[in-house]
Amino acid sequence: MVRFDRVSKRYPGGKEALTGVSFELQRGEFAFLTGHSGAGKSTLLKLMMLMERPSRGQVFVDGQNLGRMSSGQIPYHRRKVGVVFQNHQLLFDRSVYENVALPLQIAGYTPAEAGRRVRAALDSVGLLGMEKRNPIELSGGEQQRVGIARAVVNKPALLLADEPTGNLDPELSAEIMNLFARFQQVGVTVLIATHDIALVERMGSRRIILDHGQMHEAGGAGDWHVG
Ligand code: ADP
Ligand code: ADP
Repeated sequence: MVRFDRVSKRYPGGKEALTGVSFELQRGEFAFLTGHSGAGKSTLLKLMMLMERPSRGQVFVDGQNLGRMSSGQIPYHRRKVGVVFQNHQLLFDRSVYENVALPLQIAGYTPAEAGRRVRAALDSVGLLGMEKRNPIELSGGEQQRVGIARAVVNKPALLLADEPTGNLDPELSAEIMNLFARFQQVGVTVLIATHDIALVERMGSRRIILDHGQMHEAGGAGDWHVG
């Protein structure tokens, strides 16, 4: 589903955020991406979303070389990739329904089809019936679920999350991780960047480690780098 082939990324005027990163994620795989702040986790996710371009190397998603993608193909690519952010980036001047429906407006669904998809997405995160609420009235955990519903409303094949539990207590964090695991069970490929090593160890999933832009696999020689 995802392949990085010797990918490096240097920001203009900055140092190298990623250096010679190669790895693969199989379709339907669930993996964590860990590493210190500034290790390159967000950069790696942004390359998959085409929010950034590599300086060297190639990124493939679903068999497509992102570097060869025409601008007309980019909207289709973005629909294939759902993204969850730490601060969930919800709009507080819109209802839960409108927040989750945002990615659909761009894709041009009929209102009936959009409604069906929004309800299915809210159902998948346990928030059916909350459509008319304003996200500001919801708890932190519920807000994060709205963010996840929005990320999956287009039924993406790949689900990425950047510190999705950063603001939540351990119990809520575990619930959110279990939600991600349920998407994996229906065939979605899931990659979650997180600092929360205790939670990662409890989940027992594959762990990919970034250390100053270089990649290690947990259990490999680089494991001791991360405390
Ligand atoms: P992480 O998500 O692991 O905290 P990032 O990918 O955000 O790491 O950052 C990796 C490195 O790249 C850091 O040194 C960061 O300061 C730098 N960086 C990230 N984004 C930019 C940017 N837009 N311009 C310049 N440097 C950046
Ligand atoms: P995180 O630690 O969650 O990755 P940051 O707070 O480091 O996020 O970065 C927030 C935003 O600022 C990101 O879009 C990132 O690309 C950008 N950024 C990070 N470091 C730099 C930098 N040194 N110069 C410019 N932009 C940066």
